[in-house]
Amino acid sequence: MAKPKLALYWAASCGGCEIAVLDLHEKILDVANAFDIVFWPVALDFKYSDVRAMEDKSIDICLFNGAIRNSENEEMAHLMRDKSKLVVAFGACAHEGGIPGLANLTTKDAILKWVFKDSPSTVSNNGTYPQTHTRMPEGEIEIPEMWETVKALNQVIDVDYYIPGCPPQPDQIWGVIEYILSGQPMPAKGATLGAGDKTCCEECPRERKEKKLKQFFRPYEIISDPNECLLDQGIICLGPVSRSGCGALCPKANIPCRGCYGAPPNCPDQGAKMVSAISSVIDAHEPEEIEKILDQIVDPLGTFYRFSVPQSILRRVEKI
Ligand code: SF4
Ligand code: SF4
Ligand code: SF4
Repeated sequence: MAKPKLALYWAASCGGCEIAVLDLHEKILDVANAFDIVFWPVALDFKYSDVRAMEDKSIDICLFNGAIRNSENEEMAHLMRDKSKLVVAFGACAHEGGIPGLANLTTKDAILKWVFKDSPSTVSNNGTYPQTHTRMPEGEIEIPEMWETVKALNQVIDVDYYIPGCPPQPDQIWGVIEYILSGQPMPAKGATLGAGDKTCCEECPRERKEKKLKQFFRPYEIISDPNECLLDQGIICLGPVSRSGCGALCPKANIPCRGCYGAPPNCPDQGAKMVSAISSVIDAHEPEEIEKILDQIVDPLGTFYRFSVPQSILRRVEKI
């Protein structure tokens, strides 16, 4: 019997999601045994033309990681959708826009100006920006066009399932693969796979008492108690507003949860929910005192929406 066909693609991605697949260690051999891997640019030498030549819907499952940041990402998202029966948004960047989505807190012009003109490490004699088309003696070079707005995968194509995490944890990835291979009916379209339905706090061994706070700290500023909830100690931890599934990996390693598994079910905006969680633990009533306490939170927008700006209600800033 023919093996199901599997494709893995990375768009605006750091490569960590690809490494997470390799972190299956020897189980990667089981994946190779069970699937016919027909496209995986990071590991195997396939060309885009190979995919274009495939029949529509001839790939059974495509695990697509990375956000949609430029014209190439978007073109490949549409191509993989056409060629695949199931498309899975794999990892926080494809799921919610992720870290690349923080670029929506500024503008394309400001990014290009900083990177190609103003940054101290830039050597630029004439302030030239990259052009999408450049004529050279050998012919014309074409590079992708950077979009103004970073998007999550489901903002450009129809997505069947989501596997959250930055990156998804290998045991969760393996759980999903085992489930698919078992032949059991797949969950309803749109389901989140490889994650729980609760919050990270519910998997966390630290005791949370929802203490009232007058002061916030960055993790390096205090030696935290290893048994006490980090948020109770004044360290911003997104555990209350993050989906379970990773086993509270970060708080167990003395690092606050950054929210990479996304919002738990029925929470449309992770950052707004965190603002609400913080508001309820601030120990002050006068506006000046509240403001003084909130001023201690460094980069609240980037902290509360670290992975979710493109999927949030805000989506992007209009100007800076
Ligand atoms: S989700 Fe995280 S690990 Fe995966 S591509 Fe994005 S930044 Fe990298
Ligand atoms: S440390 Fe973070 S994840 Fe753990 S209980 Fe406290 S807020 Fe929740
Ligand atoms: S603890 Fe939070 S940031 Fe860390 S892996 Fe889990 S969901 Fe992601």
